[in-house]
Amino acid sequence: MSTAPLAVALFSQQPASAPTETADPQIAAALRDVSPARIQQTIEKLVSFSTRHTLSSDMPASSGKGANVAAEWIRSEFERYAKECNGCLQVKSDEFTQEPGPRIPKPTKITNVYAVLRGSDTANAGRIYLVSGHYDSRNSETNDATGDSPGANDDASGTAVSMECARVLSKHRFPATIIFLTVAGEEQGLYGSAHFAKMAKAEGWNLEAVLNNDIVGGDRTPGDTLQEPHVVRVFSEGIPTTADEKQLRTIRALGGENDGPSRQLARYIASVAMVYFPPTVFQPKLVSRHDRYLRGGDHFSFNEQGFAAIRFTEFRENYNHQHQNVRTENGIEYGDLPKFVDYDYTANVARLNAAALASLASAPAPPANVRLLTKELQNDSTLVWEASPGGLATGYEVLWRDTSAPDWQHAQAVADGTRATVPVSKDNVIFAVRALDAKGHRSLAVVPVPER
Ligand SMILES: [Zn+2]
Repeated sequence: MSTAPLAVALFSQQPASAPTETADPQIAAALRDVSPARIQQTIEKLVSFSTRHTLSSDMPASSGKGANVAAEWIRSEFERYAKECNGCLQVKSDEFTQEPGPRIPKPTKITNVYAVLRGSDTANAGRIYLVSGHYDSRNSETNDATGDSPGANDDASGTAVSMECARVLSKHRFPATIIFLTVAGEEQGLYGSAHFAKMAKAEGWNLEAVLNNDIVGGDRTPGDTLQEPHVVRVFSEGIPTTADEKQLRTIRALGGENDGPSRQLARYIASVAMVYFPPTVFQPKLVSRHDRYLRGGDHFSFNEQGFAAIRFTEFRENYNHQHQNVRTENGIEYGDLPKFVDYDYTANVARLNAAALASLASAPAPPANVRLLTKELQNDSTLVWEASPGGLATGYEVLWRDTSAPDWQHAQAVADGTRATVPVSKDNVIFAVRALDAKGHRSLAVVPVPER
């Protein structure tokens, strides 16, 4: 064990650690490959199935309509990408019968379709990063299984993001595993994602991050001047849904409300965006909230199983273009139609997802068992941790920020060892530790637990 050099004077003036990160050429190449035209084709194809309502899954293939036909098409696309990469993607279905419940009047087949890009490093392939969108749609009537439900923005756009990430990232190899998921059952009550997340929990997956994309079409209503086409919102919970009483007591005592794993994931996305996007082109807006008022999404299902998960959603939603029968009333066009989707916008959302997934899957695992020593009253702070498992880490960084600051303000490199003492009082800041490799890939940040 060695103690890190104390170099606070050098970096105390730096606003944040993120700008020091540099772009990975492989990731930059994958982002250039993301195609707005391809995303448009995917969304228009999904809309062509007339409805993808979860209750339409028993419509026959010959009808060319319904959730099952959509699932088959998504599967064939994933298989096409798999062929193009010589079988690098494993294409799978998670199919089950949902018993009757709220918004499910009869036993209903629900199919989640996904593709697995297995990590190239056996010691790291067990770490999984996942991107998701829901392919089911709905109109004004919650349980209308047959009426037209184009669902271009909600959520063919998120489905297209997951599929486009699969297409461009499958041309590259990463040490850790990436899963590209499309689910159904969202509009009826998150049934598909709940089933998938429970499977991941039951099978003990080391699922480190989930990126849920829902309504990422960047609605462009003629005459709307308030849409922000360069911003995507990132919603994340601060306090983990699964925190137990003891954890909640610690969060209350130490001010940990803003530091759950999902919030760290949101910050990670913000730091990745600073590396790969000029701020005027595209940036995430972190919203410190689980979801919008009156709404929920598939990230809830993963949070409920204890996984870090966030939601991407366009900056400004138009409710005339969500969950609406297609019609014109008093000169207003209702319906979730492709013509309101901004494909360049959705392509940027896909690039941000791909950048985050590829950065996470290239990085070392986060350090394990991170602790802040609190045995004595002292003005220095000592953190200890266990080495990042998997052997990719070449060093660590201790991060900290004022308790009232939204993002990390300081970073101290720890070139050697798994212990650091910094001349900063733990009473005044929030600390975290992350692992990094020689190329500058950073792991997710881990906030220490106090050790007495
Ligand atoms: Zn949705």
